[in-house]
Amino acid sequence: MTDISVVATQLAKEVDVEVHTDKRLAPHTSYKIGGPTAIWTAPKTEEAVGRVLEIIRANKLPFFILGRGSNLLISDRGWNGVTLFLADNLSGLTFEQNKARVMAGTLLMELVYASIKKGLSGMELLAGIPGGVGGALRMNAGAFGQEIEAVTESVRGFRHDGGRFEKDRKKINFNYRRVPELDDVVITSARFRFNSAETAVLEERVDDILALRQKKQPLNYPSCGSVFKRPVGYYAGALIEEAGLKGKRIGGAMISPKHAGFILNTGNATAADVYALIRLVEDSVMNRFGVRLEREVKLIGEFNN
Ligand SMILES: Cc1cc2nc3c(=O)[nH]c(=O)nc-3n(C[C@H](O)[C@H](O)[C@H](O)COP(=O)(O)OP(=O)(O)OC[C@H]3O[C@@H](n4cnc5c(N)ncnc54)[C@H](O)[C@@H]3O)c2cc1C
Repeated sequence: MTDISVVATQLAKEVDVEVHTDKRLAPHTSYKIGGPTAIWTAPKTEEAVGRVLEIIRANKLPFFILGRGSNLLISDRGWNGVTLFLADNLSGLTFEQNKARVMAGTLLMELVYASIKKGLSGMELLAGIPGGVGGALRMNAGAFGQEIEAVTESVRGFRHDGGRFEKDRKKINFNYRRVPELDDVVITSARFRFNSAETAVLEERVDDILALRQKKQPLNYPSCGSVFKRPVGYYAGALIEEAGLKGKRIGGAMISPKHAGFILNTGNATAADVYALIRLVEDSVMNRFGVRLEREVKLIGEFNN
């Protein structure tokens, strides 16, 4: 069996990373839920990410990538492996005319504001989506009919096996909240291309989008946003509401009375509470409408069925 503390020591000694053992993950998720990770590692450079992957592979440890944690439900028992945290340590952006190279950990909102300040259009509809650029690319995050795909020029990183990855957007199949080519990639940075526009106009658009989100979404409780993807021909929220589940509670978790597609942590929810509601929704919608809901939220660690 792999000795966790030996691997943690090796990582701290050989790579430009921050390393911890037995670190709680809950504070790093928008749900504020989740047990500890055996090893926490936060590489400080793109190169360090590659080296961390080599060490993980040599020690045959499972790992998952934690961005800003806004689309995750982490088990109460935590994650018995390595958490590769790509956020503050790997963030920053540089513009060159109408293009930007952006590190994966950069907040999407930072890119929104930086681009409009430069008089560059393309990010406005994505304003208000929490999370980082890496997570947004992996999820092909989007809103109001636009996805991050539309402004992406190329994506860079490492394959899970440690090999380098760099691909042009044209060679990547961006689907609805899924990008198969990025499933086994640790994204470290990406290039984006924008159009020119007037900053004042863009600012107004962003304010409108933020106000609309505030009106429609229950933003006063921790959540992961929409738990389910939109099924073809339906809206997940409407199906859940019609199944009579709006406001339904299990433990500290509740289906939002404002937007039934959100499951909220009302204060002391466990991952098990949220998961029980997810299963209840899936079964109810299946039994009532014959529609199989697909999860948008990513589950990390072990959950009892
Ligand atoms: C209130 C609220 C509203 C939301 N509204 C929207 C919305 O309108 N539209 C929308 O699309 N989403 C929405 N979301 C969901 C979420 O914000 C997005 O999916 C976001 O893009 C996830 O980014 P993240 O950095 O938080 O990723 P995380 O949650 O940390 O990770 C999500 C997935 O991406 C992977 N990942 C993260 N970083 C990397 C990386 N560098 N390389 C490879 N894989 C990586 C993770 O392993 C995981 O599989 C919302 C969430 C909340 C809480």
